[in-house]
Amino acid sequence: MLSADACIDYLLGEARLLCTVEAVPTSEVLGRVLAETPVSTVNVPPLDNSAMDGYAVRLEDLSADATTLPISQRIAAGQIGQPLQAGTAARIFTGAPVPQGADVVVMQEQCDQHGDSVIINGQHRIGQNIRRAGEDLKRGDPILQPGSRLRPQDMGQAASAGLATLPVYSRLKIAIFSTGDELINPGEAAAPGQIYNSNRFTLMGLLGGLGAEIIDLGTCPDTLEATLGTLQQAASQADVIVTSGGVSVGEEDYIKAALDELGEVAMWRVAMKPGKPLAYGRVGDTPFIGLPGNPVSTFVTFCLFARPFLLKSMGGSDVLPRRISVSAGFDSKRAGPRREYVRARLEHIDGKPTAIIYQHQGSGVLTSTVWADGIVILPENTTINRGDSVEYISFEQLID
Ligand code: AMP
Ligand code: MG
Repeated sequence: MLSADACIDYLLGEARLLCTVEAVPTSEVLGRVLAETPVSTVNVPPLDNSAMDGYAVRLEDLSADATTLPISQRIAAGQIGQPLQAGTAARIFTGAPVPQGADVVVMQEQCDQHGDSVIINGQHRIGQNIRRAGEDLKRGDPILQPGSRLRPQDMGQAASAGLATLPVYSRLKIAIFSTGDELINPGEAAAPGQIYNSNRFTLMGLLGGLGAEIIDLGTCPDTLEATLGTLQQAASQADVIVTSGGVSVGEEDYIKAALDELGEVAMWRVAMKPGKPLAYGRVGDTPFIGLPGNPVSTFVTFCLFARPFLLKSMGGSDVLPRRISVSAGFDSKRAGPRREYVRARLEHIDGKPTAIIYQHQGSGVLTSTVWADGIVILPENTTINRGDSVEYISFEQLID
C-alpha cells in the first residue's frame, strides 16, 4: 500500500501545465490562474490627494489659536485646482488633488465656515490627511502573484493599476464520467437495486469551482466495451479525465483493464480512509484520475489528491491545502496503518479551536460531508485522546 503522502508527491510529480495563456477582461478573471506578472500602468494614487472633506492650507499660515483664512478656491474629486495662494484656504473634498503649496488638509469637523472665510481650529502637522502620489503603487510596479487564483481584491487592484485585461491560463478541459450499472439520475424513477448518481454532481460542483470546463460524459455501464469507448471519447475531447468507481479489482471493475489497453495505469491501494483504491494513468497522452466510487471517498480523494494535480495542470502554484493545528474534541483509540480523513467541524470550546467529528464516518454517508466544515487528519498508527493536537483542513482550502 502506498502512503497518502507518497501518493500526493507522485501525482504532483506527474502534473504538467496543460493550459495556454490568454488575455481575459479583468471583470471576468475571478478564480482564474494568473499566468504572468502584470505591472501597474500608473502611480496609484496619481497625485497627492485629500483623505478628507475639509480645507487645504499651508501649515505656516496657521497660528497656535484659531486662524481665520479666506477661501480662495474649491476643489472636488476629478478637478485640478490652482496653486494655493499664501494666506488662504482651499475648500477640498475626499479624493481631490491637493493644490500645489498646501501641505495640510484640516478636516471640516475642525473648521467653521462663515461665508467666504473659514476658522481653522486645533493643532496640525505637515502632511496630515494627505494621501501621497504612488503610496499604493508606482508605475511599473509588479502586482499580483503568478500561479495564484485571482480573488476579488486582485481584480480591484488590477483595475486600479489600469489593466483592462489580465494574462491567465486557459480553462482546463476535464471530462468526467461515473461508472456503475446501478446508477440513475435524479428525476428518474429508481427500480429496485438502482441508486441515484451523486458523484457526478459532487464532481460538477468541485470542478466548476475550480474554473474547469467540464465535459460531462454521464454514466458508463460496467462493461469493458463501454469503458473503452467512453475513455476514448473523453481523451479526444479533454485535457484530463476524472472518473468515479470501477477502480477496485472486482469482476465488475473495468477501469484497469480499459486503461491497460488504451494507455497505462497505476492502480494504488492508498493507505487511507476513506478511499483506498485510486488510479492514475494515461489514455494516450491524456492524464487520467480514477476516484473510488463510494460517495464520501470520491469527495475526499478529489479534494486531497485530484485537486492539487488539477490545479498544477492549470498553472497553479501553492496547490496544497493549508492545515492548522486544533484541539481534538474526541478520542480515537484504534491506531491503524491507514491515515484517516474524518469529517469534522471546528468549534470554540474553552477558548480553543476544537474539532468535533461526525459520529458516522461511513464512506457512503454523504451526510458527514454536508454536516462538516472541514477534515481532520488522523495520522497513521496513532491514537488520539481528547485534547491532543490534531491537524484540520477547512473546506475553504479544498473547495473553490
Ligand atoms: P465502486 O468503486 O464502483 O465499486 O463503487 C463503490 C460503491 O460506491 C458502490 O456501493 C457503488 O454503488 C457506489 N457508487 C459508485 N459510483 C457512485 C455514484 N456515481 N454515485 C453514488 N454512488 C456510487
Ligand atoms: Mg462500480
